[in-house]
Amino acid sequence: MKREMFFCGDPVLRKKAKRVREIDDSIRALFEDMKETMDDANGVGLAAPQIGEPIRMICVREDLGEEHEVHCLLNPVLVEGSGKQEGMEGCLSLPTLYALVIRSEKVLAQGTGLDGNAVQIEAEGLLARALQHEIDHLNGVLFIDRAEADTLSWMVPDKSDEDGFRWDPATFEEAQERFNRLREARDSR
Ligand code: ZN
Repeated sequence: MKREMFFCGDPVLRKKAKRVREIDDSIRALFEDMKETMDDANGVGLAAPQIGEPIRMICVREDLGEEHEVHCLLNPVLVEGSGKQEGMEGCLSLPTLYALVIRSEKVLAQGTGLDGNAVQIEAEGLLARALQHEIDHLNGVLFIDRAEADTLSWMVPDKSDEDGFRWDPATFEEAQERFNRLREARDSR
């Protein structure tokens, strides 16, 4: 079932999430919900707090040419990081806001899979970025906390641009106001 998104300003996004101690039907059902919610929003990753569940569980989407695979990690940790990548980063909990965030180019993440077995993911590029971003969520950290100064921008659809969008400068204050309105709209439904 697709779930409501929690937005910047919702307290759950700033909490340290709790460890998963037992893999039961509720965890398996939560994974299905996370996958559906992430796919529906065209995301490459989602952390459980983003749908209001303060537990240490993430999913990330790995593109494999035509196909893709969604990995689920319980209690994930980064055990290694190397290199450096610079890129504009966004988040489903801060829709259309982006900023330049410097991340490790390669990471090794470890956690537990839904079957209870240990999982290791060696990643680089976008998948490595997604893993770092989602694990941050479990510690109450958002990408705006790691953004390079003065790079906060709105992605605005623009047909006159060859990419189909342009960047408009943003401030934390106006971003928070916009997300407050999204939360109010969600809560009044
Ligand atoms: Zn996010």
